[in-house]
Amino acid sequence: TAANPHPLLDSLNDKQRAAVESAPGSLLVLAGAGSGKTRVLTHRIAWLLNDQGESPFAILAVTFTNKAAAEMRGRIESLVGGPMNRMWIGTFHGLAHRLLRAHHQEAGLPEGFQILDADDQYRMIRRILKSLDLDEKRWPPRQAMGYINAKKDDGLRPKHIDAGHHPMEQTLLRIYTTYQEACDRAGLVDFAELLLRAHELWLNHPHILAHYQGRFRHLLVDEFQDTNAIQYAWIRLLAGNTSNVMIVGDDDQSIYGWRGAKVENLSKFLDDFPGSQVIRLEQNYRSTGNILAASNTLIANNAERMGKELWTEGRDGELISIFQAFNELEEARFIVSRIRQHLEQGGALSDCAVLYRSNAQSRVLEEALLHQQVAYRIYGGLRFFERQEIKDALAYMRLVANRGDDAAFERVVNTPARGIGDRTLDILRTTARQHGLSLWRACQQLLNEKALSGRAANAVRGFLSLVEELEEDTRDLSLKLAADQVIQHSGLKSMYEQEKGEKGQARVENLQELVTAAGTFEKPEEADEMSELNAFLAHAALEAGENQASDSEDAVQMMTLHSAKGLEFPLVFICGVEEGMFPSQKAVEEGDRLEEERRLCYVGMTRAMEKLYLTYAESRRIYGRETFAKASRFLSEIPEQYLEQIRPQTQVSQAQSVNRFSRTQESFDNTGFKLGQRVRHPKFGDGVIINYEGTGPQSRVQVAFDGQGIKWLVVAYARLQPA
Ligand code: ATP
Ligand code: MG
Repeated sequence: TAANPHPLLDSLNDKQRAAVESAPGSLLVLAGAGSGKTRVLTHRIAWLLNDQGESPFAILAVTFTNKAAAEMRGRIESLVGGPMNRMWIGTFHGLAHRLLRAHHQEAGLPEGFQILDADDQYRMIRRILKSLDLDEKRWPPRQAMGYINAKKDDGLRPKHIDAGHHPMEQTLLRIYTTYQEACDRAGLVDFAELLLRAHELWLNHPHILAHYQGRFRHLLVDEFQDTNAIQYAWIRLLAGNTSNVMIVGDDDQSIYGWRGAKVENLSKFLDDFPGSQVIRLEQNYRSTGNILAASNTLIANNAERMGKELWTEGRDGELISIFQAFNELEEARFIVSRIRQHLEQGGALSDCAVLYRSNAQSRVLEEALLHQQVAYRIYGGLRFFERQEIKDALAYMRLVANRGDDAAFERVVNTPARGIGDRTLDILRTTARQHGLSLWRACQQLLNEKALSGRAANAVRGFLSLVEELEEDTRDLSLKLAADQVIQHSGLKSMYEQEKGEKGQARVENLQELVTAAGTFEKPEEADEMSELNAFLAHAALEAGENQASDSEDAVQMMTLHSAKGLEFPLVFICGVEEGMFPSQKAVEEGDRLEEERRLCYVGMTRAMEKLYLTYAESRRIYGRETFAKASRFLSEIPEQYLEQIRPQTQVSQAQSVNRFSRTQESFDNTGFKLGQRVRHPKFGDGVIINYEGTGPQSRVQVAFDGQGIKWLVVAYARLQPA
């Protein structure tokens, strides 16, 4: 109240305030995006500390990412006015890790136990397969990895699993058992193990559990809709009968079902914690009226919902802009132009977020941003040319170009696995060092001297001839076909194809995207002396080496829709909103995943505070092929009244640096040409204009020639004729 100002509570609405001040007990805050769930959770912690005299020691808060945890800690510190180092705020994994460190002995772990990240785990499983004499082709490591992690996420040890008479499951179980024994011997803990182990620690050591139950009088969990079985069990056990548990979540934002998250945990909580209070927040503070209304209408198309209302006091704001691009390049260029426009109007780059469905989409966007020298940061992922599978493929290409490239050699000599083990590699390295040779030459020398054992010699010989063959086979090919040949013939593509799940699929998509990148690569003028392959490799290395914008630098935020959860930005672009892309082809085919895709779209749209752009391309070269797509069904689910369509008016005049747009004008300045037009070139023959750039005498057009590839041409010199 005005008479008694209370900064912590005065900045909350009545329902938020009720949640923050709620009496001890269990509480579910169920509410839509941007209604202040995370804010309530943060303020509750500050209120407990400030007003209730709770000790930071008595509080455990779980968030979804480390970044979210750091932000929450910072918010609490500024609300409370002091450092909060001792408070346990973190992700489930981070907190379980902390617990295991403190009780490693009781948990059966050596003091210096190490965490296996996903890549380490993968390599470990490959070793296990080998030791069990299982063929990787029949038993893809990724599949075994998925099996093991899923079992652990469900809280299951090998002894809990009955494989019955299913030979497949029997083998997977045997891999799980052997893998776990090896991890235990080596003191290694994978991500899923962290949670399971911590859970078991409590089950097996009631006095430890009792200690933490007594200590953590308040448990608070954000994004509860995306908890999995073991995370739920963990919270439930820790809560016991005495703790006060506050969970916040939104069933409409459950987007990790494919990874084992169980949205049912929200209703399970109400069953397991009888007498829970439920508070629904209904006022949205994040987005304009138009963005909110459009998002609400979209999500109403889902059948399985707990049902919520959201309204805003804010103004309607601008309409949501739909941009229909001719192709993905035009889409990227449009996005960059709007970002620059925002910048020219005094905005910051960090206001802008570009969200996409799949990681492979980032490449074209990254190149457009680099081209326009706009700083960007990829959040929760690697830049295209830094990704494992891309580096693998590039390593083969580097060896084709230069046998002496030891780093490339080391990277792929046994990828895919071809029986060149650590022992052989050690011999190679020693020989190379002693004689000052490249690893490649060391191989040749050792083979000549017959210094390798029969099996190792065969494997090494096989690798050398593979690279020789790659060079021969690709010598006369275009860069694009050469890249394609390399990913196929090296075995990388089929290796990644065998990986099950989203990750494997994403890697194959990225590899195919590399072929696209090679196809559209244009040798810069300064690289005149270089072969096309070398120029391309240099381009890739430079782009990968270009440091990501540092945390303090103003930069556009780029991320997948999944990683955008919980965040907000004044300006949001969601791109690739096409049938088959978003919703993804797979989701369309397996009907039951469509609702999760729609929730993902809801999550994406509700990140926007001021302005939302939804863009799509009629034709897209992605995953190595050209596709033609319709606008996503999600676009037609949004009522027209909230939308404005923009089509590029490709007319660009020199007086006006910012593009204007209209539906009709499609030819661009003094060139006499327009996008999509067929043209004839004296040397390259007939083709279609697919892109353009610049104005007046400097303007360039990109033409897809029939059978001659895609080229950029300066209009003034190209002697193009309408075909
Ligand atoms: P999501 O579901 O996307 O995680 P959320 O429900 O956690 O969203 P918050 O991120 O907590 O929502 O809040 C959204 C925005 O609204 C934040 O910028 C927050 O500071 C602001 N906000 C929330 N409640 C209020 C309030 N009572 N007064 C002013 N601003 C508020
Ligand atoms: Mg939140």
